[in-house]
Amino acid sequence: MKRININTAKPAKPQSKVMIIYTGGTFGMAHDAAGVLVPFDFSLILEHLPALRNLALDLTVISFDQPIDSSNIKLIHWQQIAQLIYDHHHEQDGFVVLHGTDTMSYTASALSFMLQGLKKPVVFTGAQLPISELRSDARENLITSLEIAAAKKNGKAIVPEVCIYFGDELLRANRSKKAESMHFDAFQSDNYPPLAKAGVKIEYNEAAILTPKDELKLTDKLENAIVILKLFPGIPDEAVKAMTSINGLKAIVMETFGSGNAPTTPAFLQILKEAINRGIIILNVSQCSGGMVMQGRYETSKDLLQIGVISGSDMTTEAVLTKLMVLLPQFSGAEIKEQLSRPLAGEMTE
Ligand code: ASP
Repeated sequence: MKRININTAKPAKPQSKVMIIYTGGTFGMAHDAAGVLVPFDFSLILEHLPALRNLALDLTVISFDQPIDSSNIKLIHWQQIAQLIYDHHHEQDGFVVLHGTDTMSYTASALSFMLQGLKKPVVFTGAQLPISELRSDARENLITSLEIAAAKKNGKAIVPEVCIYFGDELLRANRSKKAESMHFDAFQSDNYPPLAKAGVKIEYNEAAILTPKDELKLTDKLENAIVILKLFPGIPDEAVKAMTSINGLKAIVMETFGSGNAPTTPAFLQILKEAINRGIIILNVSQCSGGMVMQGRYETSKDLLQIGVISGSDMTTEAVLTKLMVLLPQFSGAEIKEQLSRPLAGEMTE
């Protein structure tokens, strides 16, 4: 990883310390001499963004050696980002992670579970248009994210949690989803209000922001023997059977209809039941982005409850998947069920 330091306040003294972790994505693309989009040189950030001088920051920028499109993000990258934040948590006021938007909600959700007990903001942001483009959203997204990462009240960080700033809203990471690939408001959080809105001023919704209780803890062991099973009318039993029979499979995130409903055919239920009997965890999340799973509300979810499918409540698929990745190496049996059914980082309504 490359590291550079920039004092945006020079020759004055900076007022806050923020670490930027640049992983890639559209944000940092610039045209090279041949007109091809390539990752831009972060040491030139003040030339692209002279307004940064107004923030008086001591910036440490850590860049991936090879900035990546976020579709190529891997668990090793999540571990590297989490480790960097953990190692520098005591000395920085906050962190901004620049990341492609495509998988930002997955990475940011994972980080919220890997770094429980955060006392500093970790603000993910990116852009729909490269910083080199005239109408790019990169400049505003970065400046506001830096402001949020540095914001304090009575000496304490205002937003001590992992979040995503995009458009003009700050969302809790593990409540967010990428919902738009063309317009600037790329993310949505249907089941939880924004943590802040940036207009003339940044208005924080303090009642919605997490209050850190425990000490910061890094959990970097991750298990990915998980599949997402999206139901659709007419889904062949053989397909469900094939998925549940994958060697070494530990968990299935089952995306169901409405408030957690699924077919009631005996063959389908039998396949799920056999998987559960073999120790595979099945978590029920809804294909709807708003509302919640209520197993037993309809006849079409009653059996799921009975055979031991766990309710994902109002969690996003991204949150459930990454929560499982973090919990599976640590817990099993009744303990993992208990952990899955309670909020660890504000990802579900109690
Ligand atoms: N494909 C890009 C990525 O996720 C899109 C973006 O950055 O918005 O890396």
